[in-house]
Parts: sequence; C-alpha cells; structure tokens
Amino acid sequence: MAKKLNPIDKLKEKLFYVKKNGWIDLKAKEEKEIFALSEEYKKFLNSSKTERETMRTIIKMAKKQGYVELEKASKKHKKLILSYDGIAGALVNLNDLKDLKNGFLMNGAHIDVPRIDLKQNPLYEAEDMAYFKTHYYGGIKKYQWVTRPLALHGVVILENGKEIDIVVGEKDSDPVFTINDLLPHLAKDQMAKTPKTLIEGEQLNILVGSIPYKFKDEKDGIKLNILNYLFTEYGIKEEDFISAELQIVPAGKARDIGFDRSFVGSHGHDDRICTFLGMQALFDIDQEKIKKNLMMVFFDKEEIGSVGNGGANSNLIERIVNDVLQLHGNSDYNLLIKSLEHSKFLSSDVNAGIDPEWKSVNEPMNAAKIGSGVCLTKFTGSGGKGGSNEAHAEFVADLRNAFNKDSVRWQPSELGKVDQGGGGTIAQFLAMYGMDVIDCGTPILSMHSPFEVASKVDIFHTYKAYKAFYKYLK
Ligand code: MN
Ligand code: MN
Repeated sequence: MAKKLNPIDKLKEKLFYVKKNGWIDLKAKEEKEIFALSEEYKKFLNSSKTERETMRTIIKMAKKQGYVELEKASKKHKKLILSYDGIAGALVNLNDLKDLKNGFLMNGAHIDVPRIDLKQNPLYEAEDMAYFKTHYYGGIKKYQWVTRPLALHGVVILENGKEIDIVVGEKDSDPVFTINDLLPHLAKDQMAKTPKTLIEGEQLNILVGSIPYKFKDEKDGIKLNILNYLFTEYGIKEEDFISAELQIVPAGKARDIGFDRSFVGSHGHDDRICTFLGMQALFDIDQEKIKKNLMMVFFDKEEIGSVGNGGANSNLIERIVNDVLQLHGNSDYNLLIKSLEHSKFLSSDVNAGIDPEWKSVNEPMNAAKIGSGVCLTKFTGSGGKGGSNEAHAEFVADLRNAFNKDSVRWQPSELGKVDQGGGGTIAQFLAMYGMDVIDCGTPILSMHSPFEVASKVDIFHTYKAYKAFYKYLK
C-alpha cells in the first residue's frame, strides 16, 4: 500500500528533481534483460580490441542483421554498411527515401581507445633480454600499465603487400607480454618522482624474450632469435614493422565484477560501450517501424583529438552522407549540406561516475552517479566550457521527453567541478554542420585505465536511451 504523504512531502514530490538508482524497484523482466545485454556486450569487447577488430566485428554482426556493404548495395537495399580504411565507418537504416534532405538521426561513438602502440623500429636487446619500444596512445596514466599481462594485436603489411593479422596473448595457450617495474627495495629515487614521471614514456618497453639464436653466444643473438621466430611464424622481417600498426592492450577477457555481478570490468569501455549499445539499439529499433533515416557512426582517433581521415575532425561525416546520397543517384551539394544540417546527432561517449575515493573532483548535484542511468551532457570542455559544443535547450527538452516516455533512467552530467579539469568529445566537430548535437553515454569508473568499470544497469539504460532517440526524435 502506498504511504500517505503530508502536504509538504507531496509538494516536494511534485516539484523536486530526484535522481533514482536504477536497481531500485527493478522488475524481474528487466533484470533478465540487463544481464543478458551485458553478456552480449562482453562478447563484443572480447572480439574488438583494436579499431580494425572493432570494425570487423561490427561488419560481421551487421551482415547477420541483413546489412549490405555499400560497394555491393543497390537502391533496393535499405540497410547499409559503410567502411573507411577498416578503421571507421557507419551503419545506415534508410526508412525515408522521399526526402533525404530531412537528414538522419545519427548516433556516433569512437572505436579507438587509450593503449600502447609499438614504435616503427621497436625491437632491441638489453641485458640479455629482448624488448619492443613503444609510444603510448591517448591519455593514459603510464604507471597503470606496468607489471600486468599484455597482449599484442594488430596488422603488419609486408613488402609484397600481404596483410598479416596478429593476435598474441589472448588464448590460454598463448604467451603474454609485460612491462617491468622497479622493486620497492630500490625505489627510493623513483618514489620521490611525481606520478607523471614515475614511469617515463621511454620506459614503457615490452619484454618479448631472452633466448639467443641456437643457444649461441652471438652479438644480438636474442634479437635474432625473436626475428627468426617472427619470420618463420608470420614471414615478418625487421623492416616490416615500419609498415605495421601493432598495439599493446591488457590480455584477457571482459569480466563481471562483484558478488552480485553488477559491473562489467574491461579495457576499452571508452568508447566501445557506446559503440556496441548504439549499434545494438539500431539493430533492435528496426522492428519498430521507424519512418526516419537512422545512422550509427564509428570514428577513429577521438583519444588524440579526432584527427586523421577516420576522425570526427575530418570530412568523414560528409563522405558518409554523400555516399548514401550517391547510391540514390543524388550528387547535389545543396542536398548534402541540407541533409547534414537537418540531422540530429548523439555524441555517444562515456562520462565519469562519482568514485567515493575521489569525490572531491566532482560537484555532486551535477556529476554522474553510478547506477543512476545514462548521462545526458549539455556541454563538455574545461575552464569556462572552453572547447565545448553546448546543446540547445530545445534539443535537450526533446531528448528528456523521449527518455521519459520509455522510462529510461538518465541523469544530467557534468564531467567534474568547474575549474578542476575537463575534456572534449567529437560533439564540436559535428556541430560545424549546423546539426543539433549533444553528448550522451554511460558513466564509468577508472576511465582510460587498463580495467575500466561500468554498471550493468547503466549499460542497459544507455541502450534504452539510444533506442528512445531513434524512436521519438523528429
Ligand atoms: Mn571517449
Ligand atoms: Mn577517452
């Protein structure tokens, strides 16, 4: 029986904005859906540890849903796969061919993650051991990457053009790699350093072996033995590293966290979480007879400033829309520009949940709470909203309305306290086309670390939010 409220409490209930934890009053059916969705998400993570692997997983999953690659598509195909250099792309649902100038409901996420890349000339020998030199990618805390099992993923293009895909460190029978750290007994000088220099960039070297070729006492015999192994196994010579993209990521699978299994722990939630959920929402919304053109876009290089030809700060979105228009025989520049202008864009990226150990960086009224659902972020940036796209109140209102219609648990979220720091997303680069853009994504803990943490209830409500966006936005 509902509790009888006194008039003041009644008025409070009517007027106050209250955030509610998503696990409270959960229905049994939703509980099942929440845990089932995270199982699918973990599978996605395990097969998608680089941009290229992520694009391949996306294409594979989309084909199962009836999507056709643009190169093989004709006008009759309504579900398209667009891929650019294997590192960026889009899935498109064409539901309104009458007026392509009305644009698309676009959801965009980035598929690159902070990690450690091999240098182009990486292999060397020191103190009777062999190592790979690296250059880290994106905003990592370098000290988090030492003394843990690491895997090698990537591609090597041989001189003859042959593409060699490499994954070492994921199977139980595989070896792994690691970066060593100094023993505490002798770390007096190291411990006096600041965390930024505790481990220097040039110290992030990967241990890869120590046996000399044929057990002979030769100069560079260990390096030779490693190269001989790589040549025998893959046909790789030392010069081939120059035309390679090899990435070091934490070895192993995404895992449940907690006795109640309420979290997913993994490298790369930022931003494969929004990548997967945006794609899944697109697949599932198809059943609901939507009459608008929908798109899920996958960007590269967000973590280093959205640069490059797969980054949001390129003309990729123009190329995507243009390629769709071309399929339908329309090469009108005016149509392209109008279609972009009339599109609406969810810049789907993670946000920082409040960590009780580091509460002082947040302003609790406006920071994201773990378990309280998907974040809607009107602006990002730092130091007086610097570098942010600020969504218009009207667009926020439309989304608020859409989310509430479908009982999405959502929360307005600001990254940290004013003047504490901040960050940017792809939002500003899409806003350049005149379209409405807002940031929207899952709150996580330990962002940019080798093991990021996301709540399964927040994952679920992010998915529901993306569906509501496709469903109700005009
Ligand atoms: Mn991100
Ligand atoms: Mn990031």
